[in-house]
Amino acid sequence: MLDEAVKLEELVKKHTDWFRDSLPMIASENLLSPAAMKYLVSDLHNRYAEGLPGKRYYQGNIYVDEIERITTELAKKLFNVPYADVRPISGTNANQAVIFSLLKPGDVMTGPPLQGGAHISSAKFGAVGMRGVNKIEYPFDVDEMNLDVDLTAKLIKIVKPKVALFGRSVFLFPAPIKELRDALDEVGAKVWYDGAHVLGLIAGGQFQDPLHEGADVMTGSTHKTLPGPQRGIILGNPKGDEEQREKLWKKIQRGVFPGVISNHHLHHMAALAISLAEHIEFGRQYAEQIVKNAQTLAEELHSLGFKVLGEKNGFTKSHTVLVDVVAQGGGRKVAEDLEKANIICNYNLLPYDDPKKPRNPSGIRLGVQELTRLGMKEGEMKHVAELIKKVAMDGKIDEAREEVKEMKREFNRVRYCYQEDEAYRFLSSL
Ligand SMILES: *Cc1c(COP(=O)(O)O)cnc(C)c1O
Repeated sequence: MLDEAVKLEELVKKHTDWFRDSLPMIASENLLSPAAMKYLVSDLHNRYAEGLPGKRYYQGNIYVDEIERITTELAKKLFNVPYADVRPISGTNANQAVIFSLLKPGDVMTGPPLQGGAHISSAKFGAVGMRGVNKIEYPFDVDEMNLDVDLTAKLIKIVKPKVALFGRSVFLFPAPIKELRDALDEVGAKVWYDGAHVLGLIAGGQFQDPLHEGADVMTGSTHKTLPGPQRGIILGNPKGDEEQREKLWKKIQRGVFPGVISNHHLHHMAALAISLAEHIEFGRQYAEQIVKNAQTLAEELHSLGFKVLGEKNGFTKSHTVLVDVVAQGGGRKVAEDLEKANIICNYNLLPYDDPKKPRNPSGIRLGVQELTRLGMKEGEMKHVAELIKKVAMDGKIDEAREEVKEMKREFNRVRYCYQEDEAYRFLSSL
């Protein structure tokens, strides 16, 4: 074998071992169940399917068509909506499809500001900007850690956006769609909700339910709080009569294909079907524990002396905790020190940071969805808060790392999923 190939083997092993011994707390990550993972190494990976079931451009899709129909039906069932497209290959890709189908260059769109936690795909330098769309940002209220509802309603009435986007990557509290409904209806904006982070919480009934609160379309990643394969999804419940609904949905589906994808990674689609089925069964329980865990972690960090944002509203109603660590040396330093102690998180812009200096912001963002998936509960969250203190306040990095490894030993099996021993056996035989 080439030296590089030998080296790769070693790198992948080191990476895998490191994460086994770590507390992964990146808010956008999760663990795939072994039952879903099986499909990632199936022949489906090697194949192509373009278009929709029954309307393909290649032969060989007899069983793929059936898999895609099942995946689509499971998605509609889980979110209780009439429309689902399971082909986007990531959350950004789903967003691109919506942007391409609903917006033209020069159109006005409104959305959350970058420092308020918006995703780069809606930024001027991201997909929205590159489509030539004029994005106008909502005013943000730091105390509420949410949009300023009154000012946002005024803004919507003045700029009359063609599309109003809600949903963020730093997403502590539900977006005020209901509160803004009158303003949105008045200007006739299409309401687009980017649920990438909170999709699993929504499906588990523990956040808001955007598609029944006035959103026409929701995009998402299927690997964040919805613990599926790396993929994207679009769900729809458009307003209007049957004809208008169908028309809008067709437009969106054409945005997906031929708009922004050709083949749609069929192995990941089959894995998604299993993840959706698992979430129908275990999602409520899982999402409930995620929110409890995030709240416990936030409260404990607060009582240990950290400046946790969102205090006015109970710190968080999602999987995410946001901490201002300026007093501990800044976001960059704290995130790097935590990494040395095998606690993996990211430094993050806070609403009052300069968006032009994203490299050394004031905050860190912590997500508990992956630790919850491994069975951790409130007791472990208190321990995690102490470990974070040990690193960020006491500087005891080596001691913390040993404690992390020790703690993690008991939490290495994925919960809230079909835990077929057969799937585990299959995977460990690879
Ligand atoms: C993560 C994220 C995305 C992008 O998802 P990918 O699957 O990483 O492409 C889009 N929107 C928001 C709000 C996100 O947080």
